[in-house]
Amino acid sequence: MRTVAITICLLAPLLMVGCGDDSADIFAGLEQKRELRVVTRNSPTTYFFDGDQPSGFEYDLLMAFADAQGYQLTIEVAFTLDELLEKLAAGEVHIAAAGLTLTPERQARFTASNGYLQHSPLVVYKSGKRRPRELADLAGRDLVVLAGSSHAELLERLVPDYPNLQWREIQAADTLELMQLVTSERAEIAILDSTEFKIQQQLFPRLVAAIDLGEDESIAWYLPKTPGALNLKSEIDDFFVSAEQKGLMSAIKDRHFGTANLTSRISAFTFNRRVESTLPQWEPLLKSIAGEYRMDWRLLAAISYQESHWNPEARSRTGVEGLMMLTRVTANELGITDRRDPEQSLRGGARFLRNLLRRLPADIEDPHRLWMALAAYNIGMGHLEDARILAEREGLDPHLWDDVRSQLPKLQNPDVYPRTRFGFARGVEAQTYVDNIRQYYSALQLKTAADYRIAPPVDMSVLLTAELETGLPHAL
Ligand code: GLU
Repeated sequence: MRTVAITICLLAPLLMVGCGDDSADIFAGLEQKRELRVVTRNSPTTYFFDGDQPSGFEYDLLMAFADAQGYQLTIEVAFTLDELLEKLAAGEVHIAAAGLTLTPERQARFTASNGYLQHSPLVVYKSGKRRPRELADLAGRDLVVLAGSSHAELLERLVPDYPNLQWREIQAADTLELMQLVTSERAEIAILDSTEFKIQQQLFPRLVAAIDLGEDESIAWYLPKTPGALNLKSEIDDFFVSAEQKGLMSAIKDRHFGTANLTSRISAFTFNRRVESTLPQWEPLLKSIAGEYRMDWRLLAAISYQESHWNPEARSRTGVEGLMMLTRVTANELGITDRRDPEQSLRGGARFLRNLLRRLPADIEDPHRLWMALAAYNIGMGHLEDARILAEREGLDPHLWDDVRSQLPKLQNPDVYPRTRFGFARGVEAQTYVDNIRQYYSALQLKTAADYRIAPPVDMSVLLTAELETGLPHAL
């Protein structure tokens, strides 16, 4: 059970009352009050609203930390990295947790926790355009980075060796803005974190990584540079160590970054096109049927895309049909008279999935439960059960999807399947099936999160461009 109450000093201006802190040292009395003020930025890799639920990698990590240490959290959102660092420098917050890279400049200015996520800076361009191959190729190109970012610092450090390097610094908090500029050809090249790129690439399949600027960097939380911050810093570092040991850290990483490498750029490209061209037509029906079965409509959308690419007339050689590609037998069991009727098909599929979710053993928890139900949707409950038994025999955990997933290919191995209860099954296909749905589902979540991004206050809604050291015209 969560013991943490959370106040969000954000959307409603009225809530802002009482969110400021005038005390000279924000750390005074923290041990007694147990109220932590944190600044973050709104982006799919840090903190965002998934529907009306706060979510994001940093958010989950912060909640876990507050839970473990008995803090109450107040989260503030900064709309640019500069603003975020200013708040920290002014001692208005205890922690900045925002996918912030450890850099020498920042370490001189702030107290830093130990790193907890590795990544590297990537140079990204639009496929079909001239590919930069080394740093020298960046000179003379219209290059963008986030203002105040580790990448702006990196470029400053490179100037002595590459004096022709010029760039624009974009006042924003989300690298999505950079990717949008490159995709729409309002900039040629961007530098951003590999983690952010991998996640957001689902939305921008035309963007490609050109150069990996190498050295592993770490993300850390920053605290103000006052002696009062040191206690909290060691609490945080200890928490990171124990979260690592207990598997909590890898579970949170998996939840947010786990699907980033699953599908190819080509299929992501096709998917994105269909999301624009075909999905809107099905959205109302998907929402209403998902609502009937208390399901996330984006999940139903992801499954039906995997099944039929949202083609209600789809039909396979094996005789499955319709948006949800039901077999005749399943359709009969579900009382479906016309498998090509989109409404019947979606309703049948949703009901079938609900049945499978109910039939799985009660001690399998989400999200493992959902991935296993999807695998059962694809190969049948009996074969899934066989894979779970194989997992147990291997000393793996049949309650964890990754452990069960790893056994699926054995169902088509002639040395193994004859000794399983339900025999041969196309296990590799079931792996791909679930992987794809996870990928589509997370892309749709990301996309809707991007659609509902929190709007920055008043006139920041137009990107501000600081033309640092460059005479490049800006087309924003
Ligand atoms: N990690 C970057 C930083 O610390 C922010 C994200 C990005 O620019 O890719 O400034």
